Amino acid sequence: MRKAKILATLGPASRTQPQIEAMLDAGISAVRINMSHGSRQEHLEAIANARAAAAKKKRALSILVDLAGPKIRTRNLKGHAPVELKPGASFIITTRDIEGDAAEVSTNFSELPSAVGPGTRILIDDGSIELRVEATNETDVIAKVVVGGWLNERKGINLPDTKLPIPSMTEKDHADLEWAMGQNVDYVALSFVRQAADCHQVKDLIQKMNTRPTGRALLVAKIEMAEAIKNLDEIVEATDGVMVARGDLGVETSVELVPIYQKQIIEKAIANDKFVITATQMLQSMIDSPSPTRAEASDIANAVWDGSDAVMLSAETATGSYPLEAIGTMARIIEAAETVKPAQLRRPVKFSLPPTGRTSQALCKAAALAAKEIMTEKVAVFTESGLMARRLSSVRSGLLTFGLTSSRDACNQLALIWGVDPYMHEYGGSTKQMLREGEKTLLKGGVVQSGETIIMMAGRLSGLGLSSSVIVWTIGEEIPKK
Ligand code: PEP
Repeated sequence: MRKAKILATLGPASRTQPQIEAMLDAGISAVRINMSHGSRQEHLEAIANARAAAAKKKRALSILVDLAGPKIRTRNLKGHAPVELKPGASFIITTRDIEGDAAEVSTNFSELPSAVGPGTRILIDDGSIELRVEATNETDVIAKVVVGGWLNERKGINLPDTKLPIPSMTEKDHADLEWAMGQNVDYVALSFVRQAADCHQVKDLIQKMNTRPTGRALLVAKIEMAEAIKNLDEIVEATDGVMVARGDLGVETSVELVPIYQKQIIEKAIANDKFVITATQMLQSMIDSPSPTRAEASDIANAVWDGSDAVMLSAETATGSYPLEAIGTMARIIEAAETVKPAQLRRPVKFSLPPTGRTSQALCKAAALAAKEIMTEKVAVFTESGLMARRLSSVRSGLLTFGLTSSRDACNQLALIWGVDPYMHEYGGSTKQMLREGEKTLLKGGVVQSGETIIMMAGRLSGLGLSSSVIVWTIGEEIPKK
């Protein structure tokens, strides 16, 4: 089984039920609904289709809703046709409600004229177009085109040198979060996080709106701003997981720093028991081509070796011409990468860190060592909220973790997590029944054989909530009477 997972963005090229079924066959474990694009109705259909596809294929599938955040964008163009901005030309970005052309375009950010001044750099469309501000008035920013290019509608605007007076959650984000919680999604991603307080705010809201009897939607802090890099420690501490959002990160900082930040973010996340998604332009060329570049193959393998829980596809699956080919290619690259063990898997991250004093860490490390000693790669963990399976995953010991849960929500949520193969599982009353049911589930799933010795982790054995026991267990063995 592949340990690193594939998260695919749904969009016009990929949101019908048959398309999602084919994507599951091709290798996805999770889907992203990007609130920056599309209508509420389209998002609703995408979620319903994803759930129906997963049910038909009897597969666990995580649903992640990505809140747009205070993304500054250009607005519509005349006839919806792209326009060319030529180097040296004058170009106006305005808060007036107009249809844009090669001379001016509207923006959704009403404070833009007051936030910038002469000399400010403005980047459009992930930095492919660069402007420099010459003057401003109440409604307009008059700029010169430094690097020209074709401008399409609704493209992102970045102001990498400007501290913006805007909250990380907009009114639209609030409404979208409420809607997403109503849809019982598994993950909520927050864009343009700058500090821990941004995460606390959303986590509190998630907690308040939570309807799950056990667990809740998990927060993904998107790391894409220089300020977030500066505050990385406090953000990692405050969030449940992070995304290396390389698109905006490369514009807000600079492209040559992205690989360095990627390694730092992933390492910090894993060391702190947080999951991590590496995103953007992973198979960019496959938006229009059925095969990848060698550089893309290498990039995906490196993201896997860095320790990503999941790697993400954006336009490749949302609007691209080859969504299934992109997923299949990504799956094969991950599989090949996982046949070799990079340094951090040979020497799990957690073993090189100072002791934490936490019971969960002690048990996860004990499970990893016990598995090594009895020469198995398999650990089954009984987990109601999914928390213990996530903890075990973050040891990155190379173990394959079977997450056994009676919660459909936890089962779906675990699909995104590195090395975790989640199963729905009925709990019996006693410890004996629980172990027997666990065995049955694993045998039915075809992932263990009778007589095979694996590691089991559970809490019930001692009557405690979290896992408190690590058991070396032979499938089919008689349970000794006390
Ligand atoms: C990114 O910037 O890399 C990213 C994942 O964010 P979005 O796709 O929302 O722009």
